[in-house]
Amino acid sequence: MSDVTAHVVILGAGHAGGTAAALLRQYGHEGPITLIGEEPIAPYQRPPLSKAWLKGEADADSLALKPVEFYAENGIDFRPGVRGVSLDRGAKRLALSNGETVGYDVLILATGARPIALPIEGADLQGVLFLRTAEDAEKLKAALGPGKRLAVVGGGYIGLEAAASARALGAEAVVLEREPRLLARVACETLSTFFKTYHEAHGVAFELGAAVTAFRGENGRVTGVILSDGRVIDCDAALVGVGARPNDEIAEDSGLECARGVVVDLSARTSDPSIYAIGDVAHRPMPIYDRMFRMESVPNALEQAKQAACAITGRAPPPGETPWQWSDQYDIKLQIAGYPFDVDEVLVRGDPASGKFAVFHLKGDQVQAVEAINSPPEFMMGRQLIGNRRPVNRSKLADPSVSMKEVAA
Ligand code: FAD
Repeated sequence: MSDVTAHVVILGAGHAGGTAAALLRQYGHEGPITLIGEEPIAPYQRPPLSKAWLKGEADADSLALKPVEFYAENGIDFRPGVRGVSLDRGAKRLALSNGETVGYDVLILATGARPIALPIEGADLQGVLFLRTAEDAEKLKAALGPGKRLAVVGGGYIGLEAAASARALGAEAVVLEREPRLLARVACETLSTFFKTYHEAHGVAFELGAAVTAFRGENGRVTGVILSDGRVIDCDAALVGVGARPNDEIAEDSGLECARGVVVDLSARTSDPSIYAIGDVAHRPMPIYDRMFRMESVPNALEQAKQAACAITGRAPPPGETPWQWSDQYDIKLQIAGYPFDVDEVLVRGDPASGKFAVFHLKGDQVQAVEAINSPPEFMMGRQLIGNRRPVNRSKLADPSVSMKEVAA
């Protein structure tokens, strides 16, 4: 049963939390909404932090999800710079870092994720950086420019985007990756090879199979990264981009069901019916794959904000979406739909050397995932095929002269 007068408290004022607050009002919620976030600014988009914003092509206003006045104008009590520290589910109260407590009827946990730190010597030196917040991006930007050298620890999307932005700003960039290939956890081998070649052509250096054992410093500042074979990679700053972990401690300590993320259902509801969890912190069902997992993407944050806002305001649940995400590096637009679970064939459509191709991941005659480089039709139709589970003709799919419309027909 929904109660349009309930007090909804949202903990975490990021992409998911900010969106949920706006949707609740849009869907007619009349009760008080309190949006609590530890960052000092209103909810903003993170994707530009490693892309346009880092290169100086976007400003703080263009990052914001809504102008800051939006919250007061819509009766949303936005409290920046405050951290939620613990949760008393029996009393329905949240304790805050400023000593106050806030009562709720409904709580939405939207605390996101944080970068994983490397537990190695020198990790606390100045110039050893992360990239999650606008403040982090400001520090990274200040460290880049002609004559500077950035060492990126971790060859994932954020690290590669930062390396591309560093090159655009005239800095040198070297990427250090423990695995034998880039993007090993998140992309197929064809993509790894494609991105490595493209980055090398833009002057990025790579050390693959390189385990970082320590940071070297002078006068408290990083000057190099030490590898397990004893080599030292000189740098003026080091960006650690080795993945993120969910901010689920408050939920776990309060006894909510967690599994490296707060476990939720298709309404984003946790094991406590008055608490929801959305965005990077949630471990959610994905019916098209018949499994649960945690996603770190803007479309997922938006979809789950919608699921929670619908459930809280008594609307019908939104239709299920096929997961997708993107990455921009130089003039390359990578769009990814789905996840390659239980795949038995990987099919490349188009020629990677042309800079325009797509990799389809198939299970039997069903598309499980597509990675599309500068190929919007392959991405869009691929996404549809994943969502509607229609069988696909492999030879037509492999032939770029057959349009994607015909393949999907
Ligand atoms: P967040 O946006 O991280 O918001 C969580 C908020 O909660 C933060 O402000 C945090 O400070 C706050 N918080 C945490 N704990 C507490 C607490 N105890 N009390 C109060 N506040 C708290 N996704 C894409 O789809 N495409 C991309 O190209 C892309 N690029 C990215 C580039 C970068 C550099 C980064 C960092 C992420 C990128 N992402 C991208 C991922 C995307 O930004 C996230 O999936 C999305 O922001 C998740 O939204 P969220 O609200 O769950 O978490």
